[in-house]
Amino acid sequence: MPATPLRIALTLDDAPSVAGRADVAPGDPSRMDRILEVLQRGQVRDCAAFVIGRMAAGEERRLARWLEAGYALGNHTFGHANADRVEPEEFLRDVERCDALLDSIGAFAQGRPRLFRYPYLRRPGHPERRRWLEDRIETLGYRIVPAGLDTFDYQFEVPLGRSVARQDAARIARVEVRFLTAATRALVGDARALEAHERRSVRHVAFAHFGIVADRCLDRLVDRLRAAGATFVPLAEALEDPIYLRYRVEEAANGRVAGALVPRSLAGRIRRWAVGQSMRLGLFAQREYGPLRPHLAE
Ligand SMILES: [Zn+2]
Repeated sequence: MPATPLRIALTLDDAPSVAGRADVAPGDPSRMDRILEVLQRGQVRDCAAFVIGRMAAGEERRLARWLEAGYALGNHTFGHANADRVEPEEFLRDVERCDALLDSIGAFAQGRPRLFRYPYLRRPGHPERRRWLEDRIETLGYRIVPAGLDTFDYQFEVPLGRSVARQDAARIARVEVRFLTAATRALVGDARALEAHERRSVRHVAFAHFGIVADRCLDRLVDRLRAAGATFVPLAEALEDPIYLRYRVEEAANGRVAGALVPRSLAGRIRRWAVGQSMRLGLFAQREYGPLRPHLAE
């Protein structure tokens, strides 16, 4: 098919900061301010930040600055639990607790939408529990926001955090380039695979996190994606794509729409297996510098 421009809505999870690991890449809420600057400088005018209530305590001013700059805040629960591992009633209380916090800082004022994203993109596996929970979340006024395209930034948090902690410039550069190469390849590859499967241009939702990787690399990732033909579109516009209605009813789908909806060809499965084997052989480099093909590593 002809290469149409990729239309991507960018979203960021775990605002104001991923919890991180104290020994390698501790959480750092000031990332949210730097990332806001990157978005503004890079003219990415729409980006929803999904807030972990527990990480936001005391950071209300920072969250308010994000809103004042015209960007959206969404609900990512208070404690970041896996919805497939806790009781739906307990999970719902966690959503409501984050809702109260967001409401108190005016996140939904002036007609701003209520956006919700599952931690780890995990929905309850049991269909009845899932339906019960999603009905309640939607009754609260939320739109459940899936993510079609993964940057896999979380797989580089430890390698990059460790390199920064050691102040090893060569190592930092190596991890960053690996991330940028892998993320661009994964995003563009998954987007094109989904479009080939749908036989049309799709409006995509991509996600990354408020971690050390986005803090250091988001500006360059935006540049690389633009160089690969991407334009950044508002989330509301992307969510009108029919693919996300299918996500709503899809029984087995997890949050990553492209991975869930595109059936893999036999050739693709063999290639995936072969790459997986070679990655296991190169385990040391994968652990130290991050995976080269993270989308195949799962
Ligand atoms: Zn999260």
